[in-house]
Amino acid sequence: MNYEELYRQNFETNLKGRYITLNDIEPLLLQFNYDNNVQIIGKSVLGKPIYKYEIGTGKTRVLLWSQMHGNESTTTKALFDFLNLLNGNSDLAKTLLSDFTFCCLPMVNPDGALLYTRENANNIDLNRDAQDLSQPESKLLRSTFDNFKPDFCYNLHDQRTIYGVETDSVKPATVSFLAPAFNDNRDINKVRTKAIQVIVSMNKILQEFIPNQVGRFDDTFNINCVGDTFQYFNVPTILIEAGHFQGDYDREVTRKFVFIALVEGFIKINENDIVSNKIEDYMKIPHNKICFYDFIYKNIKINYDNNKIITNFALQFKEEIIDDKLIFNVYTADLGDLKGFFGHFELDVEEDLYQDSHINVPKLEQKADFSIGNSIKFVNGLIKN
Ligand SMILES: [Zn+2]
Repeated sequence: MNYEELYRQNFETNLKGRYITLNDIEPLLLQFNYDNNVQIIGKSVLGKPIYKYEIGTGKTRVLLWSQMHGNESTTTKALFDFLNLLNGNSDLAKTLLSDFTFCCLPMVNPDGALLYTRENANNIDLNRDAQDLSQPESKLLRSTFDNFKPDFCYNLHDQRTIYGVETDSVKPATVSFLAPAFNDNRDINKVRTKAIQVIVSMNKILQEFIPNQVGRFDDTFNINCVGDTFQYFNVPTILIEAGHFQGDYDREVTRKFVFIALVEGFIKINENDIVSNKIEDYMKIPHNKICFYDFIYKNIKINYDNNKIITNFALQFKEEIIDDKLIFNVYTADLGDLKGFFGHFELDVEEDLYQDSHINVPKLEQKADFSIGNSIKFVNGLIKN
């Protein structure tokens, strides 16, 4: 399989960047609705439609949902790339559609998508509402699960840039996986094994593209999380977290890797190439680790109480909606030796003096406008030319 080529052929050009809302996906869904297979299954807290799209006639039933966290849009983009593939009339599409029935909720949390928040409009994290089902969006996801009766569930998310994967060196966790636990013991039964086997096949292909940049999430059991609940209900459930790739803050590169993982996983399920015991391979996928900041500036000199201190400081992007646009603003995140942490961007300023328009000491949560030495000015974390 030439995945680069397959991705180029199916890439959805109308979806780009991090800020993906209902307005972006509605026209695409309507294009797919030639057979009345796009339906509005209900409304969000603020009355926005929640869409379901079913395609395929096969016996293996797969439920996929994305953007239950509103600001996690990368997997939505990859899902539409995959839906383009399914609608593309290729031999691969024909095989997948005759062997699978796909049910997609591409945007479970349209209010959060518009507000660019993780939570829904009632400030509830829908991925902690799997038992209470207190929110309309949670109820709709559950009723879709109950009615569709999937053989596999795909729980699609984004993770922050702070996550890395530790092997010989430390790299960003560009894609992370989890086969959620179904009990406190984190036992591995037949159901969970099925999810693990799919993840192992996805990891194997991704290692060809992003060696050592695939992580495994902590599997502490939490029945309030949707994935844990569905696994507990005996449906193999796969969590995919799209993360940071070097320099790719728009997540247009990571998007491709999610697409590849989806396609490869379905091909392997279909080939039934998941019979052998692959639990060991799963356990070998390194754990996700919080070890990154977006920027680390090393060896800055600070005048503090008439003492000169040499230290490091870290900055982090915060994505903020300003005038309907997503802006990446940079704020101070940490100060000190920052042992065990790495910057996606690092610079050693060699003991030059830090100055800003406040008290000349980086303060947490302060906007990252400052100067180093006599001449280098930084605006929004970056050197101003
Ligand atoms: Zn999430």
